[in-house]
Amino acid sequence: LKLAGLDSERSIIEVDGVSIGGKEIILMGGPCAVESSIQMQESAAVVKKAGGKILRGGVFKPRTSPYSFQGLGMEGVNYMVQAAKEYGLLCVTEVVDTRSLELVVDKVDLLQIGARNMQNFELLKLAGKTNKPIILKRGLSATIEEWLLAAEYILSAGNPRVILCERGIRTYEPSTRNTLDVSAVGVAKELSHLPVIIDPSHAAGRRDLISSLSKAAIAAGADGLLIEMHPNPDEAVSDGPQSLTPEQFINLAQELGMVAQSV
Ligand code: PEP
Ligand code: MN
Repeated sequence: LKLAGLDSERSIIEVDGVSIGGKEIILMGGPCAVESSIQMQESAAVVKKAGGKILRGGVFKPRTSPYSFQGLGMEGVNYMVQAAKEYGLLCVTEVVDTRSLELVVDKVDLLQIGARNMQNFELLKLAGKTNKPIILKRGLSATIEEWLLAAEYILSAGNPRVILCERGIRTYEPSTRNTLDVSAVGVAKELSHLPVIIDPSHAAGRRDLISSLSKAAIAAGADGLLIEMHPNPDEAVSDGPQSLTPEQFINLAQELGMVAQSV
């Protein structure tokens, strides 16, 4: 496996005063899907209070069923951008194809390429032509090598700012939505210079495990966490069962600060 920049120093990705891959563990949070302006305002307030730096929210939702909520599109982006701005946060949303990338690239601070599109090579190449940091999630059943080669598509197209995100992989174990591959942090860091973050929410699929998986992520050397949180998870249009409540999110952030100091 020959990867660009393998021998170079670790990449620290700077985005508007936030450094990903440096000493600080970066907390990113927000709902799975953007639903309304008030929902994003409330979410932004919680992320800010918790010490988070980046607000997340999906507006183009790659749902398993075509009958599930598909996202608010550009209306939703505006709700998220506005809320992030008011609370001094950066924001990230997922792009699912080249069209959606072109629609949001000038509005958000980072772009996310989701697990289902990790090998959408046209999307990766276009992401490589942008000047935005890209959070690249590991595919549902992708090996680490395939994931790193997907990252290479972005890097080799000219965009050096890629953040790898482990979000659980498909295994035979049905008690969690996916199986968090904690070792992926160490392996990806050994094979590449890119920052690696963990999304415990899509790994677990249930909120009772988010705290322990987040702590494991930090102990394993993750550079950040991407966590789903909803002002009212029971009413969420997507991924409610895995979304933390605002209170849980703020408490977890406090605990993670202590874990980070001890590793
Ligand atoms: C998401 O972040 O909401 C999402 C769809 O994640 P993944 O691509 O990891 O399933
Ligand atoms: Mn989700």
